[in-house]
Amino acid sequence: MLFEQNGYRMVARSGLPDSYFAEGRNHVYPVLSFGIIARLIKSRATIHIADMATDPAYVPHNPALVALVEGVGARTFLFVPMLADDELVGAIGIARVEVKPFADTQIDLITDFAAQATIALASTSRERRYRETQTALEHANRIAAMGQLTASIVHEVKQPLAAASLDGRTSLNWLTRNAPEIERAKLGIERFQGHIDRAVRIIERIHGLVRKTGGEKQRLGVNETIVEAIELVRGEILKNGVTIRTELADSLPVIHGDRVQFQQVILNLIINSVQAMSSVNDGKRELVVVTSAPEPGEAVHVAVRDSGPGLNVENPERLFQPFYTTKPNGMGMGLSICREIIEDHGGRLWASANIPCGATFQFTVPGGPFHAP
Ligand code: ADP
Repeated sequence: MLFEQNGYRMVARSGLPDSYFAEGRNHVYPVLSFGIIARLIKSRATIHIADMATDPAYVPHNPALVALVEGVGARTFLFVPMLADDELVGAIGIARVEVKPFADTQIDLITDFAAQATIALASTSRERRYRETQTALEHANRIAAMGQLTASIVHEVKQPLAAASLDGRTSLNWLTRNAPEIERAKLGIERFQGHIDRAVRIIERIHGLVRKTGGEKQRLGVNETIVEAIELVRGEILKNGVTIRTELADSLPVIHGDRVQFQQVILNLIINSVQAMSSVNDGKRELVVVTSAPEPGEAVHVAVRDSGPGLNVENPERLFQPFYTTKPNGMGMGLSICREIIEDHGGRLWASANIPCGATFQFTVPGGPFHAP
């Protein structure tokens, strides 16, 4: 709330004495009565009150408003809505200590100011979303750290498997004797089962660590999410001498998805391509991200195409198997997690070789009935 006094001097909210904020200093719009808020929500238009003291919006129950009108003598009020994509996100109000309606030029000035403030608000909230996507990177880092844990994991799983193998052999010996020792064999098989269960629990624990659980699905603009993901790794892309291009379809249906998980898939595919192309010394290192607009009711299609060495396996499905990696420090979990995420979103992820070179990783996700802004 801005307050005009003696001509054009505007005093920010914090400049007013506490008595104007009788309902608490933390109220953002202390002088907006419910009547005014309701009018703003309904009309989304500027409210110009020539004399608050005689206006129906003047409710004596609002002590802050009463203090302003009766204490300071503020009479003429102007409330300008802050609209983002036709949605009311706030309002700017100014008041005059006399009954003197605002001139059109003054109203235009405040309207322009409200528009600027709305843009600033939108950019702040975009910043916040960028920070949220950092979680995706943190997660990617966690996967990298998992690589270092591999040795100890192997050790942990090896131990119960070796014990199970020993118990299995011993039990078999008890059973194949001339006089089979059924009870001893039974005990051995129970121990065998216990070791196998332990190995399964270890594997499940690792899986739980790697996979980000508890995703929150919401309406998600595919293009916007891809652009944000690319911004996160642009430095890495440039550092590797890769040029990136996007071919994003104009009007895609929104999807119902978890932003962080969806970006994790994009980040994984991009980073894999960048890593694959780092071995290409002659020729272009080019990465293209393409989205396509399907017919209504069909899935959104996303493709990440690179000019790297292509696929070195006969069956591309091999790449999606957990722990399949050709990288010295690779974990081989990236693609299998990506597939899990896409399938959890009701879609499909697959890989194919490009002609003459490179690989394309592409996926589909069912689109909603609404269109992204
Ligand atoms: P990691 O990156 O730890 O190896 P991934 O599951 O992400 O695990 O990838 C598995 C393997 O798939 C990689 O090691 C690589 O051999 C192959 N791969 C992934 N992306 C590409 C690509 N764009 N071009 C060629 N091979 C790829």
